[in-house]
Amino acid sequence: MVDAFPWWTDAQKSFQKELSEYVSKVLPRAEEAYWERRFPWDLIKEIGKKGYFGAGVPKEYGGLGLGITGCCIAAEQLGRLYCIGHMFVTSHIGGYHQILFHGTEEQKKKWLSGLAKGVLGAVCITEPYYGSDAAGIETVAVREGDEYVITGKKRFITAGGVADRYLLYARTSDDPEDRRRYRHLSAFVLEKGMPGFSLEKINELIGFENVPNAYLHLDHVRVPVENRIGNEGDGWNIMMGGLNFERTLCAAVTLGGMLEALRCIYNYLQRRVQFGMRTIDFVNNQFAIADMIADYRIARLVTYYSAYTMDIGLNMPVEAAASKMFTSDASLRMGINGVQIMGGDGLTKFYPVERLVRESKIGQIIAGTNEIMKVIIYRMGPLAMYEDLIYPWRFTLHPRLQVPMPTFEKSPFAGQEVNEANMLKLFALNYRINPGLYMTIEDIAKEFEAPQEKIIEVLQAMEAKGLASLYKDRRGRILMARPTYKALMQAAPPEYYRWFPEWYRDEDKF
Ligand SMILES: Cc1cc2nc3c(=O)[nH]c(=O)nc-3n(C[C@H](O)[C@H](O)[C@H](O)COP(=O)(O)OP(=O)(O)OC[C@H]3O[C@@H](n4cnc5c(N)ncnc54)[C@H](O)[C@@H]3O)c2cc1C
Repeated sequence: MVDAFPWWTDAQKSFQKELSEYVSKVLPRAEEAYWERRFPWDLIKEIGKKGYFGAGVPKEYGGLGLGITGCCIAAEQLGRLYCIGHMFVTSHIGGYHQILFHGTEEQKKKWLSGLAKGVLGAVCITEPYYGSDAAGIETVAVREGDEYVITGKKRFITAGGVADRYLLYARTSDDPEDRRRYRHLSAFVLEKGMPGFSLEKINELIGFENVPNAYLHLDHVRVPVENRIGNEGDGWNIMMGGLNFERTLCAAVTLGGMLEALRCIYNYLQRRVQFGMRTIDFVNNQFAIADMIADYRIARLVTYYSAYTMDIGLNMPVEAAASKMFTSDASLRMGINGVQIMGGDGLTKFYPVERLVRESKIGQIIAGTNEIMKVIIYRMGPLAMYEDLIYPWRFTLHPRLQVPMPTFEKSPFAGQEVNEANMLKLFALNYRINPGLYMTIEDIAKEFEAPQEKIIEVLQAMEAKGLASLYKDRRGRILMARPTYKALMQAAPPEYYRWFPEWYRDEDKF
């Protein structure tokens, strides 16, 4: 059994133990369904009855009340059962967070208790012409009395066909102002069997052998108003609000497949002998396994840390996106390296390692591609690390060594008049510290302890005289400045800029 993290509650720890033992017992049945490309209804129903789908559903709606951490424990363990892990995840992405946080009491009673019993769900965002750009979706929902009439197409919908509950996003406004303010979408629950709601196509994919993934057709599907989640126009916020949960859960399910592959790789190498040695005794193979173990354990750590932050009410999008990105990347690395160190056997479908390669490739694309994760991490990361990314000191030249050095001393320019002569001196000094970099207007203002407007005024005059080169944004705002060659020459004699290490011989200088 994999480690329980020390911050888990006793209930979460014993849930993991119970589920892990159960999964080990039924794993052969899941593998049989995989080989037969058969949807494992028998296991899904059995697991539903046992209540494992309700790990994160609050007790008052028939669940186990184990929070997001409980959901991740279930996803990780059920992920070892392949299709069933995907069904657990999609059933949650298709409603759990949306209904728990935005649903009415009646909706919670109806759909969350269904989820806890293992009623399958799906989420319907993606369309033929809109994938990563989810705000553009074209499926429309038009209000007619107490109903919405929904028309359009959805694609790549996991559990399409087998699910009973479809959490679907549709456009409810074409007003450009609503679009600008992301108030143009609404969330609905559609149920299997609604007239006009049909399955259009099942995808044949690189993986997902017995996991249905579908195109859905919506031809004037009449959906009662009471199936709308939240208010009209809340769709985008509802979708975005659940993304941290969705990404973390996707990471958790991946961990299950990683463990099964790692188990296989490790055992295989202990039993394979070449050149009179077990292949696990080759140091290159040991290093590969060390990388896999490190990847797996780091992936588990970031995933359960992200789950924990949600359980205690924090909003940490960087951790959630990083967990999804890191885990799917780590899983692909494990698959590729696992195949390599198992040789030809790694490539056969008789071992579950080549499957990891194909599944991890899917993992890098579903629930927001890993490029989109990077976009999020790049946008949100610097905000999350705002204080950490600011230098607490400034840089100057060390008086004896004459190399750049952090210092807490006040700048010699502080309080000096902001004029061309002083700006040139600052430029010359900064050229010695950062010879290839511009100075931001904030950098310069801090040095002089002067208002930015004054700095800009002097810089513009210097630009006109060919003494400064200014970096402007698209709106023409001056953001940074650097000296020109002419400015450096005017600021100080050539000797000022010279610096040689002690070992450098005088006879080699010119
Ligand atoms: C197996 C599988 C299961 C899925 N299950 C579901 C489901 O249940 N429900 C659902 O609604 N959807 C589902 N999806 C859809 C999935 O979420 C989308 O495939 C995914 O968001 C990417 O959209 P796309 O395929 O249209 O690629 P595109 O958006 O067309 O992207 C193509 C490429 O361009 C890159 N790209 C796009 N925009 C940017 C950007 N702004 N910056 C940098 N790079 C960018 C992408 O990273 C990608 O590499 C599933 C997909 C798969 C493959």
